Amino acid sequence: MLAILRAATGYGVTLLGPLRPITPSRRRPGFDKQDFRIDWEHHTATCPRGVTSPPWKETRLDGQPGHWVLFPRAACRACTDRLSCTGNVDGKGRHLILMPRPLQGVQNRARVEQETPHWQARCAMRAGYEATVSETVHAHGLRHCRYHGLAKTHIRHVLTAAGTNIVRLGECFPPGTTPPRPPRPLTPFQRLCQNTTCPPGS
Ligand code: SF4
Repeated sequence: MLAILRAATGYGVTLLGPLRPITPSRRRPGFDKQDFRIDWEHHTATCPRGVTSPPWKETRLDGQPGHWVLFPRAACRACTDRLSCTGNVDGKGRHLILMPRPLQGVQNRARVEQETPHWQARCAMRAGYEATVSETVHAHGLRHCRYHGLAKTHIRHVLTAAGTNIVRLGECFPPGTTPPRPPRPLTPFQRLCQNTTCPPGS
């Protein structure tokens, strides 16, 4: 999320990639984080059943600041969706961990977008060029350039790309498996020889 946000705000670039899936321990069969209404001004969240949490507490999430939201135990115990929402049987209330507002917005939008066919078609294109970039980096050392200056570096990139294409073509047609080619057309001289009849005794 941080990379998506930095690319968008710092460079105006849309970074296209799937978010990490929700881990099984955090997955809830009932309501997901996006189903809750967040009140960023008052630091509360309201669940789809209309219960509003007390103000959240600050916490850390993978070393980053986050917000810990805990719904009232009594309200959740009385809720018919409690088991599917909280996922626990010991009567605790539902809890949520929210990221800081800009990041949470990125996550919410991305999770919705990445389910659409349009997004999936765009992301599928990445499979091809990610593999190509990986090949040039790991097989042909593209990460380090042995020249100074952008001009020479650019030439090096172009030559590496050309070399990668040649290697790939070679892998398409290993020795002995080249597809049959149509015979070469006759050269003008060969055609002349064929059409010329030599006089007897010449
Ligand atoms: S279990 Fe609690 S948080 Fe979940 S829907 Fe019911 S009242 Fe809301």
